[in-house]
Amino acid sequence: MVMDKKQEQAARQAQPTCSMRDRLTRFMEEKAMRKTPERYEILRVAGLAGGIFTIDDLMHLMNEHAQFQVSRATLFNTMELFCEAGLVIKHSLATAAHYEMRTDSSPKAYVICRQCNTITKVSTSTARLALQNLHVRYFNIEDKLVYMHGLCRKCQAKNRQEARKKVKKLKS
Ligand SMILES: [Zn+2]
Repeated sequence: MVMDKKQEQAARQAQPTCSMRDRLTRFMEEKAMRKTPERYEILRVAGLAGGIFTIDDLMHLMNEHAQFQVSRATLFNTMELFCEAGLVIKHSLATAAHYEMRTDSSPKAYVICRQCNTITKVSTSTARLALQNLHVRYFNIEDKLVYMHGLCRKCQAKNRQEARKKVKKLKS
């Protein structure tokens, strides 16, 4: 049976309790892909990240926790596959792609520091409620992600300290 995008999504949403592993299995079966142990191991280790991670972070995690090592290229390709399977959210930032396990499709909000480029997930029930009712005609929204840009606490403190140092220098 060939499913169109909408049916595929409905099928995915119909089984929210289904584990990530089962979802990966189903996706690979649908696409007639080889169910390699590497893919399952990468999925398991990515789950250990517990939040937002880069390929570098994942590489470190693989070095520490994986049963076998894979190349960076394999990690990149596998993350693309996981995105397609709806298992992972990809944040395409200017610095490097950041990923996160897609455990559900609820609206999510993030803050990105323009100085140190860190991305942090924020829990904003208000944003979530507002976004839940957001619909776009003729567009099938799969994820509702909001990015807010600004300065993180660390960078604010750093900038204040540097400004103080400058003032001191001017005075002396
Ligand atoms: Zn910062």
